[in-house]
Amino acid sequence: MTRKLFVTTALPYANANFHIGHIMEYTQADIWVRFQRMRGQEVHFVGADDAHGAPIMIAAEKAGKTPQQFVADIAAGRKTYLDGFHISFDNWHSTDGPENHELSKEIYKALRANELISVKTIEQFFDPEKSMFLPDRFIKGECPKCGAKDQYGDSCEVCGAVYTPTELKNPFSVLTGATPVMKSSEHYFFKLSDPRCIEFLEQWTQTPGRLQSEVLNKIKEWFTKDDEGKGGLGDWDISRDAPYFGIEIPDAPGKYFYVWLDAPIGYLASLKNYFGKLGRDFDAFMADESVEQIHFIGKDITYFHTLFWPAMLHFSGRKTPNHVYVHGFLTVNNGEKMSKSRGTGLDPLKYLSLGLNAEWLRYYLAAKLNAKVEDVDFNPEDFVARVNSDLVGKYINIASRAAGFLAKRFDGRLSADLGVEGRALLDTLRAHADTIAELYEERELGKALREIMLLADKVNEYVDQNKPWELAKKEGADAVLQDVCSVCIEAFRLLTIYLKPVLPALAAKVETFLKVEPMQFADSARALGAHQIGVYEHLMQRVDPKLLEALFEPPAAPKVVPGGEDLAPEIKIDDFTKVDLRIAKIVKAEHVEGSDKLLRLTLDVGEGRLRNVFSGIKSAYKPEDLEGKLTVMVANLAPRKMKFGISEGMVLAASHADEKTNPGIFVLEPFPGAQPGMRVR
Ligand SMILES: [Zn+2]
Repeated sequence: MTRKLFVTTALPYANANFHIGHIMEYTQADIWVRFQRMRGQEVHFVGADDAHGAPIMIAAEKAGKTPQQFVADIAAGRKTYLDGFHISFDNWHSTDGPENHELSKEIYKALRANELISVKTIEQFFDPEKSMFLPDRFIKGECPKCGAKDQYGDSCEVCGAVYTPTELKNPFSVLTGATPVMKSSEHYFFKLSDPRCIEFLEQWTQTPGRLQSEVLNKIKEWFTKDDEGKGGLGDWDISRDAPYFGIEIPDAPGKYFYVWLDAPIGYLASLKNYFGKLGRDFDAFMADESVEQIHFIGKDITYFHTLFWPAMLHFSGRKTPNHVYVHGFLTVNNGEKMSKSRGTGLDPLKYLSLGLNAEWLRYYLAAKLNAKVEDVDFNPEDFVARVNSDLVGKYINIASRAAGFLAKRFDGRLSADLGVEGRALLDTLRAHADTIAELYEERELGKALREIMLLADKVNEYVDQNKPWELAKKEGADAVLQDVCSVCIEAFRLLTIYLKPVLPALAAKVETFLKVEPMQFADSARALGAHQIGVYEHLMQRVDPKLLEALFEPPAAPKVVPGGEDLAPEIKIDDFTKVDLRIAKIVKAEHVEGSDKLLRLTLDVGEGRLRNVFSGIKSAYKPEDLEGKLTVMVANLAPRKMKFGISEGMVLAASHADEKTNPGIFVLEPFPGAQPGMRVR
């Protein structure tokens, strides 16, 4: 019977381009999906951008865009990566799409009708200047444990302590620098601690075969209360106050769903959007009990996917996931972790732009992946070895060694006889089809590739024993030569079928070369017979290790200019025109009582009013030297509240990078003729 599979990968947060960790997850899922398609299963493989939340709202504001535009710009860059690495999503959508707004509200209303939503008043840090509640990551201060400065509101990067933002000493808002105040607000909670939820989740998580054993062990910890009755499943805060980029909560004006509530619903929304395009009935499909819902995710988001998500679905009367397949992180050279928030080391776009073959990486990742929650390490030497000796040396070479003789001597015609030894070899290869299929099914990709490479070894032994290059020189050995080369091509075809989920683009080239229809997994059971193949063209290069060196070379350092300071990253003209520079007349300059750095300047920028600007130039100028002079100021800088009053702009001045060892501040002055209010461009 045909299986109906609904498969997703975790939704990437739409505040940045993909990093290599995303590509690893997509590759793992894509290989599994392609395998299922090759088995004739009905597969719907969808993804989407996770578009909501405070970090995107704030990043968009900084970039001078609406959150919608910001997210759309990120989404526009996705295709290059997905196509480049042959990731075969059927649909890519956004959690800000109308389907997700609708589904999120429906699910929430159903949970509320089930009495699983509660309202509690909580106290939280609030930025009085920005008029918004601050997420943990937007509060910094001194670590309550070790006293380290400049630590985030949730954990200390110096001593590793975990705490709540209210425990920070001298907290400040990352957005404005203001001291946050405690403010209370009503929040909406999903009652995960409800006995019905606990009972359901115990049963759901422990259903045999649903989750990996390591995941199950982790979940058991989350369920367990300690001796004091602490721990266990707690209620989940699912609301955030305006301003917030997200989905407004029904009947709760000014309240939005926390991004983690609507993010997984985005899986359903993307499928619904896709079915809309196909003209298929989404509700009927999701009501079909035979549909298998499968999520591939990283280990850092296990809690959301194995507790909140199934509970939300179940108690809103929906189908729950059949499997959540969790993978580890990708490290490079046993080094840096490639989690959601980090992403340096191996830049996937640089990989493609250097001309490195995407299928080398797919093969390498597959060789390292298994069904466990283990981290995968990218090691450049190992990469070169596996691609060059296994993929090219063992597999590709089989075709290149045989194809030439067949083309030159037999017009590309394969023999149907193949000889006793040849037939035995091919039988061996075919006998492994079920084992290999099982390994793909179980996501034991490394083991599947090892199995396939062992078969390639057997084929190479056969070639070495039968020596077609000697047969070619021998009188009257034509028939044997044709048999041996035909066996090689048939073996190459079988290996290609087995490798096709990992190497789809290469397999397509092989199909052209062999003049066969797109190969399904079951095609391994039949034989090509007396078939005429096409002309062999080189299928895959070896990796040049120099390319890998280039891949890991840090980006070219910006030119160092005299004065010892590196150039800032390149900008576009649009970036520059955002800064409104104006000629200003210094009407008045005076000392600021209590400040040994600042002068207070009164500036005329031709606006019919005067501006008050504080400038840290006291060490270099006496007030009387400045009065009456012209200078240049940033005129559209947001007014800034300082200890001594509000500063309405900034005067431009030059200085060395390190003012302490190399003092001197030089205020800019235009050539004669400039008038206050003129724009500098
Ligand atoms: Zn600390």
